[in-house]
Amino acid sequence: MEIITAVRGFKDILPPETDKWRHIEETAHEVFRAFGYREIRIPLLEKTELFCRGIGESTDIVEKEMYTFLDRGEESLTLRPEATASVIRAYLEHTLHAAETVTKLYTIGPMFRRERPQKGRYRQFHQIDTEILGPDDPRTDAELILMLLHFLGKLGLRDLNLEINSLGCAQCRPAFRGAILSFLHGREEELCGDCRRRLGTNPLRIFDCKVETCAAIISQAPLLPDFLCTGCREHFEKVQACLRLFDQPFHLNAKMVRGLDYYTRTTFEVTSGSLGAQNAVVGGGRYDHLVRDLGGPDISGIGFAIGFERLAAMIPDGDADAVVPGPVLFIAALGETALEKAFLLCNRLRMKGIRAEMDHAGRSLKSQMKRADKLKSLYTLILGEREILENKALLRTMRTSTQEEIGLDRLEETITDLAR
Ligand code: ATP
Ligand code: MG
Repeated sequence: MEIITAVRGFKDILPPETDKWRHIEETAHEVFRAFGYREIRIPLLEKTELFCRGIGESTDIVEKEMYTFLDRGEESLTLRPEATASVIRAYLEHTLHAAETVTKLYTIGPMFRRERPQKGRYRQFHQIDTEILGPDDPRTDAELILMLLHFLGKLGLRDLNLEINSLGCAQCRPAFRGAILSFLHGREEELCGDCRRRLGTNPLRIFDCKVETCAAIISQAPLLPDFLCTGCREHFEKVQACLRLFDQPFHLNAKMVRGLDYYTRTTFEVTSGSLGAQNAVVGGGRYDHLVRDLGGPDISGIGFAIGFERLAAMIPDGDADAVVPGPVLFIAALGETALEKAFLLCNRLRMKGIRAEMDHAGRSLKSQMKRADKLKSLYTLILGEREILENKALLRTMRTSTQEEIGLDRLEETITDLAR
């Protein structure tokens, strides 16, 4: 019979890759906690309307990438393509804003987008997402970005490229939009079908177009930073000053508009040369109207989303070995009496938190020693019929290939001491 395979674009994460993932997650918990974040867990499924309103009807995500279905023909539901809209929905639904003026939240989990699967691009992928709700001052933007780079640095990542831009606000963006429209006036025919449509819906999106001819045209277009109002300009300058305070290098990228409609003012991306074509590992930015657009009070927000798979791809495989070592003890038991003793000892050690392993089938000593080696066990306990009769066992230190005898009555104690 043929085996059943996973759905295209949906990937299994296997060990030792999972060790790396756990290491990344644990580092995230640690760093984010120090910066005052609390974890939030949100459902994978939301009402479709949340993303249409939250992300924007004219974005690639909502236009063509969402997994949407009618639940029993009644209600339209969508597998979340990103976390921000859901986090804000929860924030409003549980009136978290009433409890605190600053709410810092993070969540880690799968997102779903129906894109063409390729290296670094999957249909189920994972994000580490953080949001700060409440403050709208530039120091908050800088704090978030500095934490992000600190986190990436803690994972050993260097040579990252931080790009920042300001998308302006409701005051200054319309003027820019107008300038783009007049710049493109008369050149509509040269644009791709998608961009022609974007002219009517969201002309800023054209900056994001990967089609060469569109990119060539837009490279001559007016740039957003030249249209910023005084408030937005001062905000952006302060963000940069705060980054400089920490000697954090960055590049100004006036063409970076990001793929989601809700951004205002500061936006940023982290890219890496080591990733190939899908080189963006983090995207983020400020959203000063999203909470209101989702029916809440006038509360500002800023956040980022790290692509987990792309982040993991940047960390060398060897790094996780140190994080998840092999067993402290492998028990090689021969014969029913020895196996029973081993079973008892092995599970008692595990319940004490000591990594122990054994072979229940009691195969030949040679094959058990082979397995101990393969698992990179620190010690191996040899427990045969003869040892049991003599009330002792052989403890082998794998690194030095030396062994000593220990009494059965002191076994658990001796191993527990060794593991400390
Ligand atoms: P891209 O330009 O690569 O499509 P994006 O702008 O759509 O990225 P965001 O919505 O900002 O991405 O999501 C933040 C991060 O999530 C990205 O920088 C990337 O690392 C990751 N990401 C987005 N889509 C996918 C995907 N389909 N598969 C794997 N990772 C993804
Ligand atoms: Mg995308």
